[in-house]
Amino acid sequence: MKRCRVCNGPKVIELRQHNAAFCQEHFIRFCHDQVARTIKKFSMFEATDRVLVAVSGGKDSLALWEILVELGYDTEGLVIGLGIGEYSDESTRLATAFADERSLNLRTVNLAETHGFTIPGAAAQTTRVPCSACGLSKRHIFDEQARTGGFDVVVTGHNLDDEAAVLFGNVARWNREYLARQMPVLAAANGFPRKAKPLVRLGEREMAAYCVLRDIDYIVEECPMAAGNKHLQYKELLNAMEVQSPGSKQQFYFGFLERAAPLFTAELEADGQPIHHCGVCGSPTSGAVCAFCRLKDRVAIQ
Ligand code: SF4
Ligand code: ZN
Repeated sequence: MKRCRVCNGPKVIELRQHNAAFCQEHFIRFCHDQVARTIKKFSMFEATDRVLVAVSGGKDSLALWEILVELGYDTEGLVIGLGIGEYSDESTRLATAFADERSLNLRTVNLAETHGFTIPGAAAQTTRVPCSACGLSKRHIFDEQARTGGFDVVVTGHNLDDEAAVLFGNVARWNREYLARQMPVLAAANGFPRKAKPLVRLGEREMAAYCVLRDIDYIVEECPMAAGNKHLQYKELLNAMEVQSPGSKQQFYFGFLERAAPLFTAELEADGQPIHHCGVCGSPTSGAVCAFCRLKDRVAIQ
């Protein structure tokens, strides 16, 4: 039986992709080191930057917030009430409890109260799938809160499993623009804040173990709107591959970042879009009115 790679004590987890096992203390330290290393390697942010952490009440974003606080970063959280029934209520409740217990600042934006619509409502009234209306709304609110709150960077809890699944989907369709945007850090540009994903070296299993070991109470249920979501299918495919050859997810994603991503990002930089300000909300946009305000105009209860 494997023992902790660092102290040779009893293991609490084995990571086949790293051919290593860890005790509780050294697993927590391993997670912190992986995040610190990612932030440094991709120049995500500095100790003096103000960091807005997008939290959903799920394991990844709460663990990320805790790790950033412990690494000494200046953070505030942001949770969005998406109006997806009990799932959203529970997600806001858990994020609020997490912040209160640690005396951290959490911003809360409720889509229905602030903008007059919910994600299920928007999906029902448009041809958009729920995740598309949801992604658009979340991005808009992250950007807006970062801009008005004076934050230097917005961070999200996307982990290696998420990023490998998104990459798989983008490669399957050879979506060049999305491939160009798949880097773990996107510089501030055209009025949009910097975005970073410091968890890309850690997988779903590690984040769940982190939360259990650290007593972080998180929402376990999947969002009910995720049913049929292609990314869940891609995750299953990649998990099957990972069982056969541990480390393949990591090789797939980091191999792309090192060897292929620069080809796509160069292309994106070459055709940067002219940016105006949305005539309704003032957000940067390539059109006269931003996509969020167009969605809101169609679906909000006036
Ligand atoms: Fe939004 Fe889709 Fe995620 Fe649910 S699964 S929170 S609808 S993006
Ligand atoms: Zn707008």
